[in-house]
Parts: sequence; C-alpha cells; structure tokens
Amino acid sequence: MNTTENRPKVLIIGSGFGGLFAARALKRADVDIQLIARTTHHLFQPLLYQVATGILSPGEIAPATREVLARQDNVQVELGEVTAVDLDARTVTASTLGVPRTLHYDHLIVAAGANQSWFGHDEFADYAPGMKSIDDALELRGRIFGAFELAELAAAEGRTADARAHTTFVVVGAGPTGVEMAGQLAELSHRTLRHDFRHIDPRDAKIYLMDAADAVLGSFDESLQRKTRTAMEKLGVDVLLEAKVVDVDARGLDYEDADGQRHRIDALTKVWAAGVAASPLASQLADQVGLEVDRSGRIPVRPDLTLPGHPDVYVIGDMMTLDGLPGVAQVAIQQARYAAKKIGSSLGGRASLDRRAVDEPFAYFDKGNMATISRFRAIAEIGRLKVTGFVAWLLWLGVHLVYIIGFKSRITTLLHWVVSFLGRGRSERTVTQQQVFGRLAMDQVDGLAERAGRNLGWRQQGKEGRPDLD
Ligand SMILES: Cc1cc2nc3c(=O)[nH]c(=O)nc-3n(C[C@H](O)[C@H](O)[C@H](O)COP(=O)(O)OP(=O)(O)OC[C@H]3O[C@@H](n4cnc5c(N)ncnc54)[C@H](O)[C@@H]3O)c2cc1C
Repeated sequence: MNTTENRPKVLIIGSGFGGLFAARALKRADVDIQLIARTTHHLFQPLLYQVATGILSPGEIAPATREVLARQDNVQVELGEVTAVDLDARTVTASTLGVPRTLHYDHLIVAAGANQSWFGHDEFADYAPGMKSIDDALELRGRIFGAFELAELAAAEGRTADARAHTTFVVVGAGPTGVEMAGQLAELSHRTLRHDFRHIDPRDAKIYLMDAADAVLGSFDESLQRKTRTAMEKLGVDVLLEAKVVDVDARGLDYEDADGQRHRIDALTKVWAAGVAASPLASQLADQVGLEVDRSGRIPVRPDLTLPGHPDVYVIGDMMTLDGLPGVAQVAIQQARYAAKKIGSSLGGRASLDRRAVDEPFAYFDKGNMATISRFRAIAEIGRLKVTGFVAWLLWLGVHLVYIIGFKSRITTLLHWVVSFLGRGRSERTVTQQQVFGRLAMDQVDGLAERAGRNLGWRQQGKEGRPDLD
C-alpha cells in the first residue's frame, strides 16, 4: 500500500455492497482508504437462502474482503466492530476482538447495513432465526436438515404428531427472501430428499409462507404477485396472508387472521424473513446532527447522501433513507459509486478522481426487481417489462453470476447450480452441532462474560453485533 503523509484519508465502515463497491470505485483516487468491517468477508446476502438449503457453500457467497481487494494498493482492510462515530472530532471508535482503537478520517463512508427486526419481539429470534449472516444461514441449514432427522426418528417410534410437527416449516415474511426460501424448502422436500428416508416421506412436508400483508411480494406489480402466489401453491406451499404472528415458541407459532382469530401451527422449524432494522450507528449519527431515524431506524440523508453540516460524511445503503428508495443491493452499489465520485471530485488537483465536480444530487437508476420461485422459474420486473417463468429464471441466473464477487466463486457457484438444478442433489448438506447450537451457546457465553464484567467489545451492539469470523 502506498501511503503518503498528506494524502486524504477515506474511512469506509462495512464490507457489504456499499462498502466494497465504494472502495473499488476509489481505486484510482489519490487517497488512503481504510475499510473496516465486523466480518472478514463481503457477503452476497441475496443467496443466503441457498446456503441455508444446502445448495451453496458459505465461501461462494462470502469471499474474504482482503482477497477481493488484494490488488488495490490504496486500500487497507481491517477487521473491527465500529462502536461510535464522533462527527466533530472526525474519529471512529472500533474494537477488534476486544481491542479498542480510534481511527481518524478526512472523508467517511458509513455503509453498516441493517439487521433483522422481529418487530419488538426479539425473543422470537431463539425459535425463528432470521437470515442476515453466514451464521444465520448455517444455523438454519442445521435446523432444516435436523428437522427431517427428528421426524424420521419420531415416525420410527410411532410418534406421528411429532413427526408431522418436525416436517412442518413456516417462513414468516412473503417478500423475495421468504418466497425464495419457501420455494427451496418445497424443492428440498419434494425432490432432493424424497428417496433418503425410510419411515417418513419428505414429500409430505408442510411448508407455510405467511405475511401480515394481503399479498406476496408487496413491492412487485399485482399481476406478478398473483402469478407468484399461484406458482407457490402449485409447488405445495400454503400461502397465509393477512396473518400476523403473535407468539413463537419451540414447538410452533400462533398467528391472528384478518378477523383477529387466533390460530396455532405446530412447526419445529420457523424462518424469520420479515423486517429490517438499520445498524444502530444510524441513530447514533442522527443524534449528533439533530435528525430522527425512521421506523426502521434509518437515518434521512441529504440529496447528496451526506449529513447536514458534515459534507465529508456519507451514509449509504440499507441504513439511510432518501426519497423512499428500497433497501436493495443496487441502491447501495450506485450510492457507493456516487459517494466515491463526489470524494474524488472534491480532492482537486492531482488527487482528483474525476476533475468534473459532481454537483447533481444522487439519482437512482432502477434496473428492476427479480425473485426465484423454484428451479427454472422466476419473476422479473424491468421497467414496464414483466417476465415470468424460464426466461426470468435465466435472467436471474445471469444477473447473480455477474454480481457474485470473484471468478472462482462464479465457477463453483455455477457447478453447484448444475448439481442442484439439473440433478436432484445438494452438495452442501453438511451440518455441525456448532452451527445448530452456536448462537444460543454464544449468548450464554456473552451473558457470563458480561456478568464477570469483561469487555468483549461487541456487546455494545447487542446480539447482532457479534463478530462473525468464519
Ligand atoms: C436474505 C437477504 C436477501 C436479499 N436479497 C436481495 C435481492 O435479491 N436483491 C437485492 O437487490 N437485494 C437483496 N437484499 C438486500 C441487499 O443485500 C442489501 O440491500 C444490501 O446488502 C445493502 O448493502 P449495505 O452495504 O447497505 O449493507 P450490507 O451489505 O448489509 O453490509 C453491511 C456491512 O457493514 C458491516 N457492519 C455492520 N455493522 C458494523 C459495525 N458496527 N462495525 C463494522 N462493520 C459493520 C457488516 O459486517 C457488512 O460488511 C437481500 C438481503 C437479505 C438479508
């Protein structure tokens, strides 16, 4: 890395879509970039459900950030949990595995993303984990494959009701993630596992997709919503709409229908794919500049993505709100490129990335939305164009291959897709006890450590802030 004393220092928080693409966009700028994130990897979240259902391995969707940026001389990648930003002092406080540090910046890009939200019921998380990290996906993988094992045992012992509850899966949240997850659970039980058991028939598994709203895929056109619902039902998924989850426990969940009637589903495995809460850094920044975060904890930013009174601080991606932009990867990527361009053009002289000043506010170019339903079937909405079925699935395949980071990952992902979509198999069915019980065990360790008065650094952010070092 070429470091010169007087080069401006750009500090980037986060190695997700916002952070990674910002660093890359500053490749030719005469600046020193420090990228700090609480994981050592960049995470391609849209394919987490494929790790959870045994199609892909974690490495394919989570390459090491250090490796991705290895050839970019002006960037230094660091592991660390940012716990505070001091806008007046232009410093960031971080903790790397419990070791506290203070970092200085000239320009700051905050791209710390969002966590799962259980809408004020964090206790649901124990029984209905979300899907935001590799840890989450592997825990879900363990729960899903483990549920079939328990069902086989229960059936062998004649405990039919238990076997039924073990092979009942509920996905809460009928957005793209919920639809994709439910579709894959259906494929897994109806195709992949159909010959693998002796006492149960995995094809009898019950899969529910539920949402408090009155449609699946709320952000898509109505015709696509209807088609998706029909396709899900054809796959054997029970779609429950206007169904609000009111309680979750180890053996199942309770929900209220549109008439306020309470119902119970006995299901061992629940997946929470509803609701996001911005990184707590958003509210911390908002407090310092006298702003209020929205219901999802996102900070409102100025049209040029900066904070009032702090033209060198950009907040991008899932943790900001601006003109109702959706929380999707393209917003984070385009904002990252915009912020990098603004920083580059503000440097002036030799250090400038782009000598033309960028005066226009950020403008989002919507490239469209897509979601897979099952193998060979997807929906896509690109402007006024609506595509469904196999063509949409090919589009989905192409777009995801383009955005997966790294040539190696693209090749291995493609191979895994051939195994799973052309064949019946899934090559990533390995489950370890640590994956299944790790989260709860770590909560206990955290609790013990806290009681012992030890500072483990990551406690400040609660459960979600735990470092993820796989
Ligand atoms: C399951 C799932 C499926 C999705 N599917 C799609 C899809 O199909 N299409 C689509 O466009 N979008 C999809 N999204 C949304 C998309 O992934 C996000 O919009 C995008 O990742 C936002 O980028 P970001 O940089 O703001 O945040 P992220 O990508 O979440 O990155 C946040 C980064 O900040 C780091 N971080 C967080 N807190 C701290 C801290 N305190 N200190 C240091 N580092 C920190 C994290 O480790 C991470 O590196 C999906 C999201 C999920 C969860």
